[in-house]
Amino acid sequence: MYDFIVIGSGLAGSIIAERIANVSHKKVLIIEKKDHVGGNVYDYVDNNGILIHKYGPHIFHTDNKKVWDYISCFTDWNLYQHKVLGYVDGNLIPIPFNLNSMKRVFPKFVYNKLEKKLYEEFGFNIKVPILKLKESNDADLKFLAIYVYEKIFLNYTLKQWGVKPEDIDHSVTGRVPVYISRDDRYFQDKYQGVPKNGYTQTILNILNHKNIKVILNTNMKDVIKINSEKIFFMNEEFNGKLIYTGMIDEFFDYKYGELPYISLKFDFVYQKEEKFQDVGTINYPNDYDFTRITEFKHITGQDIFGTTCIYEYPGMYNKNSKEFNIPYYPVFKQENQHLYNKYSEETKKLKNVFMLGRLAEYKYYDMDDIIERSLNFFELIK
Ligand SMILES: Cc1cc2nc3c(=O)[nH]c(=O)nc-3n(C[C@H](O)[C@H](O)[C@H](O)COP(=O)(O)OP(=O)(O)OC[C@H]3O[C@@H](n4cnc5c(N)ncnc54)[C@H](O)[C@@H]3O)c2cc1C
Repeated sequence: MYDFIVIGSGLAGSIIAERIANVSHKKVLIIEKKDHVGGNVYDYVDNNGILIHKYGPHIFHTDNKKVWDYISCFTDWNLYQHKVLGYVDGNLIPIPFNLNSMKRVFPKFVYNKLEKKLYEEFGFNIKVPILKLKESNDADLKFLAIYVYEKIFLNYTLKQWGVKPEDIDHSVTGRVPVYISRDDRYFQDKYQGVPKNGYTQTILNILNHKNIKVILNTNMKDVIKINSEKIFFMNEEFNGKLIYTGMIDEFFDYKYGELPYISLKFDFVYQKEEKFQDVGTINYPNDYDFTRITEFKHITGQDIFGTTCIYEYPGMYNKNSKEFNIPYYPVFKQENQHLYNKYSEETKKLKNVFMLGRLAEYKYYDMDDIIERSLNFFELIK
């Protein structure tokens, strides 16, 4: 009956299903273990009438016009540009740390000296990874690097990843720059926003095709069996292709061991007031156990009295934990990559089975990355 079975209805699973249905005119069955579609980007209106992101705040941003044009076929936009402040020694300063942040924390003569040196060494409108700045031979720039490292970066990284910045991959640490600019926006991408009617509605629009059928509340493990040559769906041989977007180690029953993930506990707090904070997100690198507070109304632009904020508490993922049982971020370490590679090699031995998405590829993908990846992946398997 079906040409493809897709496991998971997150962005990856939904987009690949849409391409198969719309472009190849083939039939797709999506199997989703949760009671809703959308995976991580799922949002819904809470009991107080506030649109919230169940699995953490999501802001869409990309420089990729192809990606923007594709996703814009399924949604209109609230053209929101995200701003983040950091709570440091009682001050709220722009994050990433930029020239405006520098002005807030240093006396004028120190600021002037540092600004001049930054221009001379790196130029204007440049993002310098903090670990690179730390290597500077100039004593004043080194002082700045150590300040930013200790006040903004070190404890946040320890809270979020459980390790020092030096012990995680540069692809993560490179995300935390000193930005030699007065631009207070968190992202500088050409296209930014959030779907006007939410992410869930966008996913439902993507999946709205007669060739796509979605089954919720169903774990793949209960309905699909695989041996190296054959795929069985509900005990009958399935001769199409299987695209899997869940955890790759779980797929192989953890035969080489578990891949580590950072999980998050979310506390949603409703307040009877117009607004709780001045910007979408405030980071707390040094104080409290949570890493950041995000207020949804800033992001969604919802016009309603009352406001819901999300507090994020990181912890190591453990499938048996009550609080940290959802895998969010792969932990970038060489040994984990080796373990992932072993699973990836196993996939190659299977016929008609493909891995797609952040869990199946053990890779941190932003939403625009996963859209691009899914569109390219379609070209390979269509
Ligand atoms: C806290 C947080 C904040 C983020 N914020 C941003 C942001 O602001 N901007 C941005 O661009 N990106 C952001 N991202 C990244 C974004 O969430 C991902 O790029 C995107 O969700 C990846 O989609 P996916 O389909 O690969 O994975 P997922 O969304 O995880 O989808 C996988 C799906 O597969 C299902 N599944 C798994 N195993 C099985 C099984 N055995 N049987 C059936 N179903 C199964 C899961 O239930 C899930 O629905 C954020 C990520 C996190 C964790």
